[in-house]
Amino acid sequence: MAERIVLLPGDGIGPEVTEQARLVLVAAGAQAGLEFDFVEELIGGCSIDAYGTPLREEVIEACRGSRAVLLGAVGGPRWDEMPVAVRPEKGLLAIRKALGLFANLRPAAVMPALVNASALRPEIVEGVDLLVVRELTGGIYFGEPRGREGEAPASTGEKGTRRALNAMVYEEHEIERITRVAFEQARLRRNHVTHVHKANVLDVSQLWMEVVDEVAKDYPDVELAHQLVDSCAMLLVQEPKRFDVIVTGNLFGDILSDEAAMITGSLGMLPSASLATGGFGLFEPVHGSAPDIAGQDLANPLAAIQSVAMLLETSFGSDVATGPGATRAAAAIRKAVADVLDAGHRSGDLLLPGETRDTVGCKRMGELVLDALGRD
Ligand code: NAD
Repeated sequence: MAERIVLLPGDGIGPEVTEQARLVLVAAGAQAGLEFDFVEELIGGCSIDAYGTPLREEVIEACRGSRAVLLGAVGGPRWDEMPVAVRPEKGLLAIRKALGLFANLRPAAVMPALVNASALRPEIVEGVDLLVVRELTGGIYFGEPRGREGEAPASTGEKGTRRALNAMVYEEHEIERITRVAFEQARLRRNHVTHVHKANVLDVSQLWMEVVDEVAKDYPDVELAHQLVDSCAMLLVQEPKRFDVIVTGNLFGDILSDEAAMITGSLGMLPSASLATGGFGLFEPVHGSAPDIAGQDLANPLAAIQSVAMLLETSFGSDVATGPGATRAAAAIRKAVADVLDAGHRSGDLLLPGETRDTVGCKRMGELVLDALGRD
């Protein structure tokens, strides 16, 4: 039976990279005995243009009826002047919320061929392979009470009375479910979890410590470390190789996942997954819609292609029937990407400062990955 996948290509380079990722998914899936049935829907600016809203209820329903969602990117200058409530990016927030995508997984792995692309020294980044598991639907971005009060200073020179507040709130069950995702991921990797917190000042972090310790008892094969967020930020640039899986709340995860991403030095390479209870997921490249290069076949599709590897592994990897094949297909995609880079092929974004070599466009890069897949 064909597996339903919803494609949400979105705006800018989104459709270009999503198409290459779709072709790779079809080819790798076929090798694993998986067949897909794709449904394409609009999200972001293109949906605003067509329907006046960045995300329609019908699209959410289509996603609910699917095995997984593959998204490109949303946004662009055409919609920047619109009120915040109807901007393309609202579509992204709305779909994460509607689908209950509470776990954001962002791997940051340095490919040997790109070891010089990082702002850090090659000997520091060589071999880095870490995964940030960020809680995505709770914490300070959603906590109540929130808001602003008071008056701005009067023109008379009196002091103002403005005050603003946001609350960092976490329920025990929210911490438990994200922690379980992190431990399960660690079992697929190197069996180490670092819980990042600020328990020396935050009550919320103290609850995280307690719950993480309790969950850890169910995973005696996984080693657990607790790390303060400030020292974690330092260690990530000083000794990134020490990390396997990092688990943390929404705010710390937002910042640390961007820091970890930059260790690899290449935005066009980074995939991500956002998961709901039961493992349902939305997969997307970390980068945005890159309006500066959209429509010119200049985008690097490797982040989208590696998102498809995450999709295979996460959405199909634990099925008794499809699991082994899907896991092999995900590994084959990663190997194909590495082979293409090892052979010296680069999209424009992967060139080092001052480097001169011929670059390949989005379609050609996709073809090269398909060729490499076919050779295995
Ligand atoms: P961006 O990631 O789109 O681009 C930043 C820079 O990286 C640009 O120079 C771009 O050309 C380059 N780049 C990004 N992805 C690339 C790729 N695959 N290949 C080659 N080069 C690539 O970030 P931005 O410029 O800050 O944002 C542009 C738009 O995208 C904005 O409207 C923003 O809101 C939106 N955005 C969307 C998402 C998302 O959909 N998940 C994420 C971030 C930004």
